Amino acid sequence: MENPGPLLDGFGRLHDNLRVIVTDRCNIRCFYCMPEHDVQFVPRREILTFEEIERFARAASRLGITKVRITGGEPLVRRDLPVLIEKLSSIPGFTDLALTTNGALLREQAEPLYQAGLRRINIHLDTLDRERFRQITRRDELDKVLEGIEACRRLGYDPIKLNAVAVKGLTEPDIVPLARFGREQGIEVRFIEFMPLDAQGLWLRDKVLLADDILAVLSREVSPLVEIPDRDPRAPASEYEYADGAGKVGFIASVSRPFCLNCNRVRLTADGKLRYCLFAIEETDVKSLLRGGASDEEIIEVI
Ligand code: SAM
Ligand code: SF4
Repeated sequence: MENPGPLLDGFGRLHDNLRVIVTDRCNIRCFYCMPEHDVQFVPRREILTFEEIERFARAASRLGITKVRITGGEPLVRRDLPVLIEKLSSIPGFTDLALTTNGALLREQAEPLYQAGLRRINIHLDTLDRERFRQITRRDELDKVLEGIEACRRLGYDPIKLNAVAVKGLTEPDIVPLARFGREQGIEVRFIEFMPLDAQGLWLRDKVLLADDILAVLSREVSPLVEIPDRDPRAPASEYEYADGAGKVGFIASVSRPFCLNCNRVRLTADGKLRYCLFAIEETDVKSLLRGGASDEEIIEVI
């Protein structure tokens, strides 16, 4: 099989973006993502090894995947993560390798990850208020996250983005302080509409703090915002520039402006399942192929 790509789906969408979930475990417990207690994690033997992830990633690169994001759970709780970063950053087709983290372990890990080749990082931070941070994450780790952001700035990560989940009735007071913090630090803040991803079923449509409402607050209280024409219309975030030139802000408006029509992603779960959507009801087992002696061509065929 010389040139098997590109990866076009039945709707004509081109998939060039791979999310690799390296663990389902996490060191904090955001209420909109995980229950506080008794979370059932995948047994360790079921988790793909770095060698298995690399093999899958190399096959995916032959199908035209160019963008890879490492995520979780919390990716930084996976031991020796820089080893995986090094493996993936050596794959020639990957032009864009990024990581999404809650930042609590970044102070210690930002440097080894940078040394391994990582440059792009998204850090999850919903609030600068210690009490609300504790309420959202059920942990008292705000200072560590802030130190992690500082470590990334010092090392020269670029871009650094902040992911702020916006929940109505809770995070309104955080919009302006986060935006100001981003402007001061030269970091883009991305507000993410609360999505029904929690296992506990806490999501309600009227708990979604809508991108348009945040935009109105920022334009009024920080600086007017001007939409940046989409360079990549398939990117999920709409990006705006402050009219005074001091930085950018993004919105992932999955609820009010769904972008399914332009979706360009596939996901590899920690236990080796290939999924086409966060909300997929079907998934394809690739771990059994990786562990069962399948050839690269068979893996490519399944993708
Ligand atoms: N633990 C890392 C973190 O928190 O960034 C990576 C995994 S986390 C599932 C990836 C991103 O999903 C987070 O940055 C957070 O912004 C977002 N997220 C989690 N639950 C969400 C929800 N219910 N609605 C919207 N975004 C959510
Ligand atoms: Fe952990 Fe990220 Fe989920 Fe928060 S959003 S509980 S940090 S995996």
